[in-house]
Amino acid sequence: MNYETTPNQPITIEKPADLPGAPMSSLLGYDHPCLECDYNLRGLAIGASCPECNSPVTDSLKKRLLRYADPQYIRKLRSGARCITICAILPLVGFCVMIPLSIVTAASGFANAPITTTTTSSGFTSTSTFASTTSSAIVPAIVQTVFSIAVWSLFAFGWYRLTTQDPNRSAATSNTSSGMACRGLAIATSSILIVAALFGFAGSVILGQLSANAAPSAASMAVPGAIIAISGFSSLIAYLLLIVQFVFGIKQVKRLTPRIPAGGLTKYAAFVFWFTLSTIGAYLLMVALIFVLVGAAFIPGSGASPMSGLGGVALILMIMFGFIASIAIIASYAMYIGLFARLWSQLSKTCQLNPA
Ligand SMILES: [Zn+2]
Repeated sequence: MNYETTPNQPITIEKPADLPGAPMSSLLGYDHPCLECDYNLRGLAIGASCPECNSPVTDSLKKRLLRYADPQYIRKLRSGARCITICAILPLVGFCVMIPLSIVTAASGFANAPITTTTTSSGFTSTSTFASTTSSAIVPAIVQTVFSIAVWSLFAFGWYRLTTQDPNRSAATSNTSSGMACRGLAIATSSILIVAALFGFAGSVILGQLSANAAPSAASMAVPGAIIAISGFSSLIAYLLLIVQFVFGIKQVKRLTPRIPAGGLTKYAAFVFWFTLSTIGAYLLMVALIFVLVGAAFIPGSGASPMSGLGGVALILMIMFGFIASIAIIASYAMYIGLFARLWSQLSKTCQLNPA
């Protein structure tokens, strides 16, 4: 063992984890491309400049490529992007499944009615028909509730993964507050929506049971009614919070994409961000306009009807605007899926470049 030390011999950094706090004279001991010109900076001092394009080596090191990051970290990011993509596609699949399921169960509910009539102690045929319909309607309600829980759990898990902190980044160079806000909002909104789905389900089951009785009292209907109303209101709050989560989410994506220079994802993320926010803004503006217009029509003594004069023109404009805004919302949704699908694909390629 010979630990012969030369005082002015620069140290060589063998892995990115050793970069923070290393002196500027330290040599880069692993492959790392210049982020301006792709020149391999290995062997250069970290305080030096790229011999090809003269950009500082530290600039390239700060914006470290995910290709050279911790393999476990890249895999967590990939699973996050995958979960978010699947979670965004699932509601589309859900619509395709729920519609035929509702039709089938509603049809079978009526078809089973005569059998129920023979087994029920109630003499009213109409009552038993209604009872069997509501009990069979519980199947789509269960499917819908389980589906909601699955989608929102996946959403929270996906964002939890995508906001994982890079183990090689020093606390000083990584700004984690937006990532943590994104994660917190994803978990909070998912939790609200899961609880709201369960409450909505419980409310509709109680309501279904009460409706099956010959004469449910107004007081007994009030409790499940209130449960459903609270569930609906909290869902609305959660959806508004999701807009904020979207803002932080895209911010998180834009922190990752410069570290995957291929695919032009940073520009695409910025485009999806501004397109979606303008669409949401336009949509909220339209809803506000409808409230103003409907409100104006009902002000006592104003005598204005939404269909008269200027109101009629406004109504036609709003219908046109609503149509365009709806198409824009669908486009935003498709772009959101596209962004995360592309991120997932790019992260998969990054994982292949850096085997665990
Ligand atoms: Zn260069």
